[in-house]
Amino acid sequence: MVEIPFVKDHDFAYGAVEQVTTGLRRITARNPSAFTFHGTGTYILGEGEVAVIDPGPSDQAHIQALLDSVANEQVTHIIVTHCHRDHSPAAEPLKAATGAPTYAYGPHGGTASNPTENLEEGVDRDFAPDVYVSDGEQITGNGWTLECVHTPGHTSNHMCFAWTEGNALFSGDHVMGWSTTVIVPPDGSMTDYLSSLDKLLMRNEDCFWPTHGSPIKDPIPYLTALIEHRLQRIETIRTLLKPKDLRITDMVPQMYPDLQPELHGAAGLSTLASIQHLERLGEVQPIAGSGSDTYFRFMK
Ligand SMILES: [Zn+2]
Repeated sequence: MVEIPFVKDHDFAYGAVEQVTTGLRRITARNPSAFTFHGTGTYILGEGEVAVIDPGPSDQAHIQALLDSVANEQVTHIIVTHCHRDHSPAAEPLKAATGAPTYAYGPHGGTASNPTENLEEGVDRDFAPDVYVSDGEQITGNGWTLECVHTPGHTSNHMCFAWTEGNALFSGDHVMGWSTTVIVPPDGSMTDYLSSLDKLLMRNEDCFWPTHGSPIKDPIPYLTALIEHRLQRIETIRTLLKPKDLRITDMVPQMYPDLQPELHGAAGLSTLASIQHLERLGEVQPIAGSGSDTYFRFMK
């Protein structure tokens, strides 16, 4: 497998405002997990009149720390990358306290009947933005400009935001330095995710600020490794399915021999996302069974 140059070192303190670069501050919520690394890093962009990017979980201490840190400033924009519970729920109380409107691609795109969605970070169905922003659109504040870059894959409503003045990109959960992202079908799509990685390869920002963990300071080789990693996983599925029909539960232990058991469910969902990508390519079909007992066959 290709080596992804992960950035695991992360200097931070819970609840403290850190000046991470000129014009950008971050506060980390105390919600560490297998999906969130040390927790959600909420960004405060600008000075005096600021935007808050990914306000974070419904955590009173975090929301209070955020409000305290901007007590002498005005929040003019609340910006959300996507609707997972570690990103969007604090938007509502922050809006109530500051009066700032919320901006995002849209509410969560999935349907409530899908049980697999609850296996990952948790979907926030309550959030709907005041302002729906689309790909290529600009959001302008006092001293900063953000270009919206729609990057479906992790979720269908995932949006990255390119910060013009900082020559950087807020990459949400689409590209994180500490780990690959989880793709949970049907709202998550491997096909879209790979296109959204290709989309970022065409850009020139020299730093990515993910919502979890440290910045990625050399994005292009990092993106290239992420793409290569997924293509290798997809190739492994082809190799496993060529001699015989298999279920996802048969494949995961072979594909992820070193993975912590609590992440096997997530790995299974990413495997399902890769299989659905191969189905779209006409290479694989479900052949028998249903649900987790579905057997898949390599067709060509
Ligand atoms: Zn997420």
